[in-house]
Amino acid sequence: MNIGFIGLGNMGAPMALNLLKAGHKVHVYDLLEAAVQTLEAAGAQRQASPAQVAGQEIDILITMLPAAVHVKKVYLGEEGVLAAVGKHVLLIDSSTIDPQTAREVAAQAAAQGNAMLDAPVSGGTGGAQAGTLTFMVGGDEAVFEKARPVLQAMGKNIVYCGGAGNGQVAKVANNMLLGISMIGAAEAMNLGVSLGMDPTILAGIINTSSGRCWSTEVYNPYPGVVETAPASKGYAGGFGADLMLKDLGLATEAAKAAKVPVVLGAAAQQLYQTFSTQGNGHLDFSAIIKFFSTK
Ligand code: NAD
Repeated sequence: MNIGFIGLGNMGAPMALNLLKAGHKVHVYDLLEAAVQTLEAAGAQRQASPAQVAGQEIDILITMLPAAVHVKKVYLGEEGVLAAVGKHVLLIDSSTIDPQTAREVAAQAAAQGNAMLDAPVSGGTGGAQAGTLTFMVGGDEAVFEKARPVLQAMGKNIVYCGGAGNGQVAKVANNMLLGISMIGAAEAMNLGVSLGMDPTILAGIINTSSGRCWSTEVYNPYPGVVETAPASKGYAGGFGADLMLKDLGLATEAAKAAKVPVVLGAAAQQLYQTFSTQGNGHLDFSAIIKFFSTK
């Protein structure tokens, strides 16, 4: 298939690489030249704007952008996707944004005849590289079935969540829990090590006991416990603390709209807010363990 891909960051670049590996022709755009160069070297076609990507002979256009403001600009802006895209092109936004914006952009796309899915992912940069992401997809079910084979080139679990915006609803709930569980994992690891435990032995106990979760097992925040985790690489790459802060903001905003309390979600948001204000927003979100460390 011919695919457009906009947003080649920590997640988008490996996702686009997997599409190339699966034999698709991929047209790419990103604001950062270095990101485009990496994809070009792997066989992608460089384009100069979202509109230029949209104007190619493509079947599907995928975006993987930081936040709602970027999604609005890329789809609705002057040099944006909707201004140039053919009606047959299926639009898929995999960025994590609020359900409301996802529904608004999908409605504008529908108004000009384009089907659109919100398809945020979980699985981190490791999952993006391995092609094992989980896609949570909102939109028309028949359109979802059309998109499934392409999503399968980038992910392992492709889950239909219901109408437009529902993929983002699933994502927001999952990531709120992830933020809370990472803080819990960091607090527990720091406590145990401060009391004299070896971090690897402690993690091993937790991971075969009732405290086990993804944050302790796959992505342990203590350096050296999981070799592949950002904690063992100076908290570089991975999922930025500022992106987690963004997702916790989405959760508390969504909770306000739904009139339900998110007590721990709001506490986690404040913790990441403080951590970010201290200049740590660029670090992987597991670096929140530094908040607890007194050394
Ligand atoms: P990132 O900041 O590494 O990448 C975003 C890319 O978008 C950058 O390369 C940036 O230059 C580009 N971009 C921004 N504005 C643009 C524009 N107007 N036109 C073209 N390109 C533009 O972010 P990421 O880690 O790849 O995350 C992307 C999305 O996926 C976010 O919504 C994030 O919340 C979500 N997500 C991230 C992870 C993770 O582990 N990193 C996991 C799941 C979901």
